[in-house]
Amino acid sequence: MNGSYLQTPISYLKGVGPNRASILQSELNIQSYRDLLHHFPHRYIDKTKYYTIQELLKGNAEIQLVGKIVHLRTIEQKRGSRLVARFEDTTGQMELVWFRGQRWIKENIKLNTAYVIFGRVNWFNGVFSMPHPEMELLSEHQKGIKVALQPIYPSTEKLVAKGISNRVVGKWMKQLFTEMPGSFRETLSDNLLEQLKLLSKSKAMFHIHFPKNIEYLNRAQFRLKFEELFYLQLLLLSNKLARKRKIKGHGFPKVGTLFNNFYTNNLPFDLTSAQKKVVKEIRSDLGSNAQMNRLLQGDVGSGKTVVALMAILLAIDNNFQACLMAPTEILANQHFSGIKELLGQLPVNIEILTGSTKQKDRKRIHGALEDGTLNLLIGTHAVLEEKVRFKSLGLAIIDEQHRFGVAQRAKLWHKNAIPPHVLVMTATPIPRTLAMSLYGDLDISVIDELPPGRKSVKTVLRSDKNRLKVFQFIRDEIRKGRQVYIVYPLIKESEALDYKDLMDGYESLIRDFPLPNYQISIVHGKMKAADKDYEMDRFVQGKTQIMVATTVIEVGVNVPNASVMIIESAERFGLTQLHQLRGRVGRGAEQSYCILMAGHKLSSEAKTRLETMTRTNDGFEIAEVDLKLRGPGDLMGTQQSGILNLRIADIVKDNTLLQRARFCAKQLLKEDPKLENSSNQNIKIAFQQFLQKKDIWNYIS
Ligand code: ADP
Ligand code: MG
Repeated sequence: MNGSYLQTPISYLKGVGPNRASILQSELNIQSYRDLLHHFPHRYIDKTKYYTIQELLKGNAEIQLVGKIVHLRTIEQKRGSRLVARFEDTTGQMELVWFRGQRWIKENIKLNTAYVIFGRVNWFNGVFSMPHPEMELLSEHQKGIKVALQPIYPSTEKLVAKGISNRVVGKWMKQLFTEMPGSFRETLSDNLLEQLKLLSKSKAMFHIHFPKNIEYLNRAQFRLKFEELFYLQLLLLSNKLARKRKIKGHGFPKVGTLFNNFYTNNLPFDLTSAQKKVVKEIRSDLGSNAQMNRLLQGDVGSGKTVVALMAILLAIDNNFQACLMAPTEILANQHFSGIKELLGQLPVNIEILTGSTKQKDRKRIHGALEDGTLNLLIGTHAVLEEKVRFKSLGLAIIDEQHRFGVAQRAKLWHKNAIPPHVLVMTATPIPRTLAMSLYGDLDISVIDELPPGRKSVKTVLRSDKNRLKVFQFIRDEIRKGRQVYIVYPLIKESEALDYKDLMDGYESLIRDFPLPNYQISIVHGKMKAADKDYEMDRFVQGKTQIMVATTVIEVGVNVPNASVMIIESAERFGLTQLHQLRGRVGRGAEQSYCILMAGHKLSSEAKTRLETMTRTNDGFEIAEVDLKLRGPGDLMGTQQSGILNLRIADIVKDNTLLQRARFCAKQLLKEDPKLENSSNQNIKIAFQQFLQKKDIWNYIS
C-alpha cells in the first residue's frame, strides 16, 4: 500500500470533520489516518466470559451478563431523576441505572426479553447495580461477529465530552481497516521476522485493534513493542556510531608531568579499583581520536571528583583547557576549594566563575580564557554564557547531570570548532534500563565501590512519638563533636505551608537547643544568596552544630563531620531525594545515621519508599524501586521524557525485550551499517520515516 492513504488528514474520515479533528490533534496528537491507526488500545476486556448475578463480587469490575429486564421505574430526586430497571437471571437480581437518555431507554427497551449487558458493577445500598450498561439483544448478539477481547483506547475527559467515546473510536478503526486499499508495508526484515517469529506488520496492526484471541493479541503486542524499541535503539546506536566515525575529538596522546606528579605525589589516598577502572576508560577515550561522550555514574561519596581531576590534568598536559560545571554556586565553590587543595603546588591556573563573580574578575577571567593562560575554569551555568570563550577547550565536565538539561550539554559543543570531550557525572544512579534508552548514545562508566573504611549509614524510621528520644540522640552526637542536618520538605504546591512548618520547626529547635551551648544555622530558598552562603559557611566551618534546611543542601555539599541526617515528613520526599539527602552524611570516618521522621497514615507507595530506605544503601537498587514506583517519565523530569513517549512498549516492564531490540539493532549495524543490503530495505525505509517524526528530534542533542 502506498503511503497516501495513511497520510490522509483525519478530518476526511466519516464522522470526524474539522471540529473533532482539532480535538483529536490537541488531545492525542492524531492528525492522519496513520496516527489514528497507531493509537493503540491500552487494555482489553474479556468478552468471552458471561457472569451470573450470583457470581458478582463487591470488586467493582467490568463484566458481561445475560438476563431480562422485568421492571422499569423512574425515581425522582432533588437533582433530577434516574431510571432504574430490575434485571434478573436464573441466579438472582440486580439494578440497571440511567441518569441520562432515559426517554430513549424507556421507549426502546423490551421487557422480559433476553439481553446481553456489559458495564461496571457497583455495590450500592445492599444491591448490585450497573450504571449506563451497554446492551444488546441476545438474539442480535448471537448473530453478530463476536469480539473476544474488546479494546479500550486511552482517552481524555475532553474527548468523552465531545462524544468521542471508546465505541466511536472502535467504529473509526473498523472503518479504516475496511476502506484500506491494501495492507501495511512491512517495516522489519525477513531475517528479524523469522528470527523472532514475529507477526507481519499487517497482521499485528489488525490484531492489536481486533484481537482474534489472546494468543494473537500477545503476538501483536510483542511485534509492535519490538518494532518500537528496535527503531529507538537503532537511532541511538547509529548516532553513537556516527559520532565515533565523524566527530573527530582532540587527541590527548601524552600522559604528561602534571598527571604523573599528581598521581605519585599529591593523591592523598589509593584509588579504589573502581576509580582506577574508570580512569583507564577515560584515558583510552581521550587517547583515541574520537570525541568522548561519557556518563560517569557513582553513588554519593564514591569519589568522582578526583577521577574528574585526573581527566582534567590529562587535558592540560596536552595543552588544552578544561572546564568543570556544577549546578549550584555552593557546589562550584566546593569543587574550587577542594580541587585547589588537591593540586597543592602543581602549576595549574584555575579560576571560578559564577553568577556572583564581580565584573572586574569576569573581565580578567574572560581574557585569561581567550589567551590560553587559564587552564581550568570551574563554575555554574555562567560558564555557558556567550561571552565565555576558550582558546582551546579540550574537556568539559558536568557534575550532577540531572540538574542540567540535554540542551545545555549541546551548548558546550559550540564553544569550539572541534567539540570538547564531554564527561557527565551523576550521583543519581540511573537504572540500566533507563540509561540504555535515555543515554543509549553515551558510553557509560560506573564507580560501584565506595572508598575503604566507610561505614554505611544506619537508617531508621521514627514518628513524632519518638521525638524526645531523637532530640536526646542529637544532643549525644553533638556532645561527641558531630554536626546534624534537619531537613524539611518544600514543595511548590504547598510552599506557604511548608515554609511555616520549617519556621515552626526552627523555632522549637531554638527552644530545645538553646544558645550558647548550641548554634543553629538555617538555609532556605527565600533567603538572599549571600545570607545562605554565610549560614552554610558557618556550618561548614563547624561554628554551628545544627543545620536546618530545605532541600537546597541536597546536592553535593560536603561536611565530613556531619553524622546525623534527620528528614522531617520523610513520606513527602521522593526516593531519589531521600537517597541524595542521606548521602550528605557518612562522609567522614564516624558512624553516621539517617532518621526518617514520618506520620502514621502512609500511602502504600510512601511505605515502600521508607521501607526501601531503611533496607538498603545501594543507590542502584533504590533507583530501580523508584523507577517501578514512578515510571520513567516522572523520574527524568518532563524535559527528558519525550523519548519515553512510547506508544506501546514500556521500558520498565518490557526490559527484556528492550535488551533484545538493542542487541538486534547492534547486530544489524555491525553487518550493514549503511543499510545497503537489499534484505534490509524495509528497515531503511521505515527508519527514514521514523527520523522524520519531529518529536524524536526534540530529544537528540
Ligand atoms: P562524589 O562521588 O560524591 O562526588 P567525592 O568526589 O566528593 O564523591 O568524594 C567523597 C570523599 O571521598 C572526598 O572527601 C574524597 O576526598 C574521598 N575519596 C575519594 N576517593 C577516595 C579513595 N580512593 N580513598 C579514600 N577517600 C577517597
Ligand atoms: Mg560530587
